[in-house]
Amino acid sequence: MYTSIVYLKGVGPARAQLLGKELGIFTYADLVNFFPNRYIDRTQFFKINQLQANNSEIQILGKITSIKTIQQKKGSRLVATFIDETGTMNLVWFRGVKWLKDSLKINIPYVIFGRVNWYNGVFSMPHPEMELLSEYKKSMRTAMQPVYSSTETLQNRGITNRVMQKLQQTLFQEIQGKFDETLSDEIIDQMQLLSKNEAMFNIHFPKSQLLLNKAQQRLKFEELFFIQLQLVRNKYIRKSKIKGFVFEKIGSLFNGFYNENLPFDLTDAQKRVLKEIRNDLANGAQMNRLLQGDVGSGKTIVAVLTILIALDNNFQTALIAPTEILAIQHFNAVVELLEKMSITAKLLTGSTKTSERKIIHKDLESGELQILIGTHAIFEDKVKFKNLGLAIIDEQHRFGVAQRAKMWMKNKLPPHILVMTATPIPRTLAMSVYGDLDISVIDELPPGRKSIKTIHLFDSNRLKMFQLLKEEIAKGRQIYIVYPLIEESEKLDYKDLMDGYESISREFPKPKYQVSIVHGRMKSADKEYEMQRFVNAETHIMVATTVIEVGVNVPNASVMIIESAERFGLSQLHQLRGRVGRGAEQSYCILMSSFKLTDDAKTRLQTMVQTDDGFKIAEVDLKLRGPGNLMGTQQSGVLDLKIADIIKDSKILMKARSVAIDLLEKDPNLSRIENKKIKDTYIQIHKNKAIWANIS
Ligand code: ADP
Ligand code: MG
Repeated sequence: MYTSIVYLKGVGPARAQLLGKELGIFTYADLVNFFPNRYIDRTQFFKINQLQANNSEIQILGKITSIKTIQQKKGSRLVATFIDETGTMNLVWFRGVKWLKDSLKINIPYVIFGRVNWYNGVFSMPHPEMELLSEYKKSMRTAMQPVYSSTETLQNRGITNRVMQKLQQTLFQEIQGKFDETLSDEIIDQMQLLSKNEAMFNIHFPKSQLLLNKAQQRLKFEELFFIQLQLVRNKYIRKSKIKGFVFEKIGSLFNGFYNENLPFDLTDAQKRVLKEIRNDLANGAQMNRLLQGDVGSGKTIVAVLTILIALDNNFQTALIAPTEILAIQHFNAVVELLEKMSITAKLLTGSTKTSERKIIHKDLESGELQILIGTHAIFEDKVKFKNLGLAIIDEQHRFGVAQRAKMWMKNKLPPHILVMTATPIPRTLAMSVYGDLDISVIDELPPGRKSIKTIHLFDSNRLKMFQLLKEEIAKGRQIYIVYPLIEESEKLDYKDLMDGYESISREFPKPKYQVSIVHGRMKSADKEYEMQRFVNAETHIMVATTVIEVGVNVPNASVMIIESAERFGLSQLHQLRGRVGRGAEQSYCILMSSFKLTDDAKTRLQTMVQTDDGFKIAEVDLKLRGPGNLMGTQQSGVLDLKIADIIKDSKILMKARSVAIDLLEKDPNLSRIENKKIKDTYIQIHKNKAIWANIS
């Protein structure tokens, strides 16, 4: 199976190099695992009098009666008259004219296959695939013809689909259709799967549509199963092998806060999640939990309560945010919530003064400082904790795994990690990308929230928007106006922002109206000052770039205007909209866009108007952008699938995960004889990663 492809009959050094370079096919195994990307039904023959102008690829049985070469401006074209008992049509070639002219046979039955055009009053098929009927009858013919994805280079160098089929055929003959089974009898039975052999045969040479479906089913399951097996196993290893601090008591800080200072009753979802976290903290293993909750679902209070558990057990906590503004917001929120308790918390960001930094470093090492809130500045080597027990990371996709790992280095034991994200991740994607984390979901908003009215307006309707703003301001509300800031076109974007600010300032003149502006080029002290003015309701309108995207909490703000909304991604739009609707009042989100929109942009804006369910939005986003583009998951590799599709095959994915969980529950080391095939395959897949070595 790992024989170089160069030894396969019909390949040779030149083709081997080409296959490697263009398709990553180096060995026999690579070739058999290169699955067709679609199939054509060749059980059906068309008659010429049944043809229609928009037929897709079809096959016809008939004969050539004459051939002529027609000179044209560039080169020549070959036209053959092709007939069956019902009519006449043309076959046309623009390339290879000379060679074809000599090799085409007159009055001998051919099976032709291709796309049909209606051209100059006759049907014609350009560059048909064709085969003499006598050959057609002899060859290893299957109902469904596989089509392999290809490249232009391959086509030009003569590796056509036909050649690819032939190579697969040769290879199957050579290995005599023997594939090692990779799954256990039990799983094959339980899932009613084809055997590996049957599946491999039918994926390349399907005997029927039914068998093709079953082959696909089997191979998709297998692919997803082994990924899930690894993820579930990693999780299992972490839980059983990686020790964590035991936070055994819920002490006076937690209880005191919970009973006396909690500003509201927790929602049931918040309570449930808190319970999940408490279990993790007390059971002796390291917590690695992803906390998902839509914008405004109340993750902050969960974070604060978790921090209090750490403090009750005499551990320090770090809370890390992706931007300075968000770090400041968190800091203010935590300080405010814990105001009545004697707890020390400090803020550390890129702009913290050296003198302040020194104090922070010292107090962290002595253990005097209990909570450190900040940006990635916290990850710097100089920052040493006395006993970091808990790290809470907000908006995780911006940090990534490498930095998560860095937190570990700061301790003898890894701190418990709680990752919070407001970008809902579709369940299936979460299962694949974060399948080794535990996941908690806050799936309920605090009571009394009114849903946000979302409206899409074209730029020409700007006056209508101004009108609404004036009404809302008259009611004492505040407004965000957000401009896109995309790095490549930064200069232009800043110009838009400044122009926008000026026109808003003209429309909403001082002293009646106060307008703030915040953007990334301002000094952080100025940013903070402007944010604070808005938070204190000293200004009516906040004009900003996406720096306010995450986390800002101003319940009195009731309108979110998003300029050039077509330029934002769906999850970003959803995040921005989440900045309003935090108070009891009716809130609005207005998406301003130009008139010309791409189909994707239309879908995004429509989706926003139709729903404010973050999970639904995430599903649409996933469909529009494909899994690879979401949240920097490209690197994760688990999305590099050969045959399965996380979106379309979500049912199989869930099944694969539950089968993997069941299996590892019964046989955590896959040491039972009946699971040997699975173990062998697993080792084969991961032989470079040495994962197995760690555990057995
Ligand atoms: P997010 O999940 O987006 O971080 P926050 O934690 O900022 O959400 O909470 C959003 C708002 O909802 C805050 O003003 C917070 O005080 C409020 N809130 C959170 N939980 C509750 C609750 N159980 N009942 C009422 N209000 C709540
Ligand atoms: Mg938040």
